[in-house]
Amino acid sequence: MTTDTNDFGTLPLSPQALANLTQLGYTRMTPIQAAALPLALLGKDLIAQAKTGSGKTAAFALALLANLNARRFAVQAMVLCPTRELADQVTTEIRRLARAEENIKVVTLCGGVALRGQTASLEHGAHVVVGTPGRIMDHLERGNLDLAALNTLVLDEADRMLDMGFFDDIAKVARQCPANRQTLLFSATYPEGIAKLSQQFMKAPQQVTVQAQH
Ligand code: ADP
Ligand code: MG
Repeated sequence: MTTDTNDFGTLPLSPQALANLTQLGYTRMTPIQAAALPLALLGKDLIAQAKTGSGKTAAFALALLANLNARRFAVQAMVLCPTRELADQVTTEIRRLARAEENIKVVTLCGGVALRGQTASLEHGAHVVVGTPGRIMDHLERGNLDLAALNTLVLDEADRMLDMGFFDDIAKVARQCPANRQTLLFSATYPEGIAKLSQQFMKAPQQVTVQAQH
């Protein structure tokens, strides 16, 4: 791959978003970003596989931010993560990448924390929700979370979520998302359950894989 194709400037991103990436020290796309972002920004469903530490978060974060309308006060993107720690990391990364945009609110919804504060945050309005499948399901069942305006669903660390037994919760959450959404699935490995997830909840997904370098 040449330097040119790994330049963020080749992507249809706003000048503000590009300037913010430079400020963050993101001078070039990582290989998985270079493979995934052009397709994700075209609105395609995507199964993206690359090892840990390869920059998968920014790949889906830039795609979901591109689909957002900050002036619309509704949840437009949701990221499902296996653990609270990962959900916190994803939230931080989305906020960093969203700095160039006007006031984008990201709310984290994980178990082990009182529901009340999370419910209040949702009532104040969120554009993006990041959390674990069980707690997100809980908020959906309580009527705290309206997904009618959702346009991007991300399954992050899908292999780990399947290992942890989250298939049924993921399925329940995905069934409550609008059918015309974009679905992005990220994983370090490709166990059998991923094909099942993609068959049930994705539309003609493109598959991009970056093999480990070492
Ligand atoms: P993964 O989800 O694949 O395990 P992360 O998204 O957590 O990887 O990214 C790993 C690290 O790489 C993070 O510290 C992130 O800030 C950094 N990173 C991501 N993309 C770039 C880039 N294009 N240039 C420089 N650093 C990057
Ligand atoms: Mg990750």
